[in-house]
Amino acid sequence: MKTQVKCLVVGGGVIGTSIAYHLARAGWQDVMLIERDELTCGSTWHAAGLLPLFNMSYAAGHIHDYSVKFYKTLEEETGLNAGFKVVGNLRMAQSRARMEEFELYASTAETLGIPYEWITPGEMAERWPLFRSDDMQGALFHPTDGYINPADVTMAMAKGARQRGVAIERKWQADGFEWKGDHWDVTLTKMVEKGGNLVPSDEQVVVSAEHVVTASGNHAQRTARMLGIKMPAIPVEHQYIVTEPDPELVKWREAGNPEHPVMRDADAKNYIREKRGGWCVGIYEKGAPARFLYRVPDSFRADLFQLDLERIEGEYMDMIHRVPSAENVGIKDDFNGPICYTPDGNPLVGPAPGLRNMWLAEGFSFGITAAGGTGYYLAQMMVEGEAEIDMASLDPKRYGNWMTTEFAARKNEECYSHVYVLHHPDEERPACRPLRTSPAYDRQKARGAQFGWVNGWERPNYFGPKDAPESFDHDARSFRRGGWWQYAVEEAKAIREGVGLIDATAFAKNIVKGPGATAFLDWFTCNKLPRVGRINLTYALTDHGTTRTEYTIVRLAEDCYYLVSSGAWAAYDGDYLRKAVADKEAEFGRIEVQDVTTQWGVFAIAGPKSRDVLNEVVKDAEPETVLSNKRFPWLSMREIELGMCPVRAVRVAYTGELGWELHHPMEMQNYLFDLLEEAGKNHGMKLVGARAQNWLRLEKSYRAFGNELGRDATPLEADLPRFVDLDKEFHGKAKLIETGVRAKCCTMLIDGPDDADPWGREALYTPEGARVGRLTSGGYSVHFGTSIGLGYVKPELAVEGTRLKVRMFDKLWDATVTCDSPYDPKNETIRKDG
Ligand SMILES: Cc1cc2nc3c(=O)[nH]c(=O)nc-3n(C[C@H](O)[C@H](O)[C@H](O)COP(=O)(O)OP(=O)(O)OC[C@H]3O[C@@H](n4cnc5c(N)ncnc54)[C@H](O)[C@@H]3O)c2cc1C
Repeated sequence: MKTQVKCLVVGGGVIGTSIAYHLARAGWQDVMLIERDELTCGSTWHAAGLLPLFNMSYAAGHIHDYSVKFYKTLEEETGLNAGFKVVGNLRMAQSRARMEEFELYASTAETLGIPYEWITPGEMAERWPLFRSDDMQGALFHPTDGYINPADVTMAMAKGARQRGVAIERKWQADGFEWKGDHWDVTLTKMVEKGGNLVPSDEQVVVSAEHVVTASGNHAQRTARMLGIKMPAIPVEHQYIVTEPDPELVKWREAGNPEHPVMRDADAKNYIREKRGGWCVGIYEKGAPARFLYRVPDSFRADLFQLDLERIEGEYMDMIHRVPSAENVGIKDDFNGPICYTPDGNPLVGPAPGLRNMWLAEGFSFGITAAGGTGYYLAQMMVEGEAEIDMASLDPKRYGNWMTTEFAARKNEECYSHVYVLHHPDEERPACRPLRTSPAYDRQKARGAQFGWVNGWERPNYFGPKDAPESFDHDARSFRRGGWWQYAVEEAKAIREGVGLIDATAFAKNIVKGPGATAFLDWFTCNKLPRVGRINLTYALTDHGTTRTEYTIVRLAEDCYYLVSSGAWAAYDGDYLRKAVADKEAEFGRIEVQDVTTQWGVFAIAGPKSRDVLNEVVKDAEPETVLSNKRFPWLSMREIELGMCPVRAVRVAYTGELGWELHHPMEMQNYLFDLLEEAGKNHGMKLVGARAQNWLRLEKSYRAFGNELGRDATPLEADLPRFVDLDKEFHGKAKLIETGVRAKCCTMLIDGPDDADPWGREALYTPEGARVGRLTSGGYSVHFGTSIGLGYVKPELAVEGTRLKVRMFDKLWDATVTCDSPYDPKNETIRKDG
């Protein structure tokens, strides 16, 4: 066994094997993979092997697409046939709402270039008469995917990896990791058989590895403990059944008919494919328990749990309804295995929090489908510094340190049971809530707040009726304008015409200070640093010049800065900041970073009457001028007093209206809320949620992190040159310039359906029908009375007046590119004096 390698991959399931293969293919010479037992002995061996391209996430869509294409090439490279059957994938819709879900997905699929076809119930009956289709609305068919043999595809990748120089060692378990400053010392223990169990022997070796990847599947919690980190990757039970041969199916195939596509009847929570003349039926039922919360027992090797037929009886009967000929065939085989999950169903792929050269690839629930693409894109990140797609939605740090085992287990059970729910883009999931609440949560709830979940925080999405039933928000969801839409319209109007108050407490807040702080931030971010008492919007870039974090920087003192960034990405951004500080301290001098997120609450007050409300409660020697442009200009910060509450007020408004962010001590939040609410009564102040705020920022062309801003585009591609100071040196500058502008962000007004707005995932076309880009945000503009979106198109099209088309509900709708900030382009209302 080698004791010194460039990269050690821990775990010989489909994921680890693909990563080892792709690292070698990307040029790393010295890669070793270790497996505590046999390759594929974790969840991989018993997977059903389906490879669904269907995916609502842009990044996961790319990953699945790569896998499907890559698996088709493996046999030629390795000589091993992995049993890839390209039978296609048929998604059936029992309801109009399900069809609308597919229509939204189809538009997203087009942005990825994934082919699909619509199938009517009549066509279904003609092509696949064994499937009942008279009660269906229609179906979406992917002709290019199908299923594969999970063990065989793993073995083919293992062979390909070996051919490219990867060493694969079985029966070695990683038992300890120690960072030595420039490499990891990983202690491996030889595993031996004892009474059918696999147990550690006394034989150990230490392997030094410049990089480590963990792909430990169901053992993720053990891995996390060894690394001293948290990961919400915990498996849940998943069952599928293989029936005896179905005589009708056998007859159908003997007549020379092709194999049935993999069929998914989402409304019945099942999937079906042919297997040895019978049917293989998998089910995503309610009540499947999380397993191995702390460890996998020694006795659980390539094992399964007992079938729980009672739990899936209803769904099994629904399968018989769909495939009537299955009624009289018995069960031949059953599988109930651990399937790793995360709270949002996406795996955890990327750098581990707080650690160097430690990469995670854990929590895969669609691991067979995701393995190829994960290996490819993770290898890009490791070898080249960045992947060509933005992997943030898969990053392990999208969950913060507040997360616990209990949270992960309950949330993963929920995620599993939600696999086949209608995935409304305005979906909010109920488990483990409320968990992180700001003090004013109860007050806002009493006033009708319907909350959304942001990194564990409860943040009002909109304010509905005060006495709304528990199911109100659930029933308000739609692929079109949901029951909440009118409330958001009124809230948006309140800010444009009067005044509104938004709870923005979830923002991440960090203090960066010390003798090295100024030089560090000047290098770390691409815009000029503000003067003391002023603020700036700026970006920290990746090595490749793309956007890694968006910050509002407030300069509190010469060497003290208050950094405000997205609440959803607190741990992800914080990790990048801390690692950069640690790297640069020796060069720039001492720098201290304090995360003060939970110490400071934030209310954003905005609207033409916002100054009037604050004037009622502000305390100052000259209260009549304290909020004037002279004493408190736009883009500045002042310490003010509102009643008895000391407030760090920042004159910015994400809504693009006259307004202030009121950063206040968390423990005084209720006092401040009551004070503002009382003062607001005289001015008709409305409580406003995140949905209205999102629409308002679109009218101002304010880019959102995670939508327009991410690791696949530079700030220049986001068309934000005013926030990039090319006269100074900053991290990522050379690459930013070298990259140029491949696609450009622009704002468009959309003449869409009367009852729907885009969600920001739709494909964009020229009037002649050529696909030219995609939307990254969508919503409704109260000011213009029409739908609005931000998106990326070819640079030559991102100019005012360009006519485009947006695909929504399988039709193309007119869109026109506007100027940047179509509402108040000169920022006159925002700068209004008073
Ligand atoms: C019933 C069922 C059906 C499924 N059907 C599908 C499907 O149709 N399509 C699909 O895409 N997915 C499916 N899945 C999910 C799929 O099986 C998993 O997502 C996938 O196998 C995960 O692969 P992995 O490599 O991450 O984990 P595993 O296959 O579990 O591999 C992890 C490996 O790491 C090893 N290991 C752990 N810790 C250490 C250590 N410290 N040192 C050394 N080795 C270690 C383990 O022994 C194990 O072999 C299904 C799952 C189940 C349960």
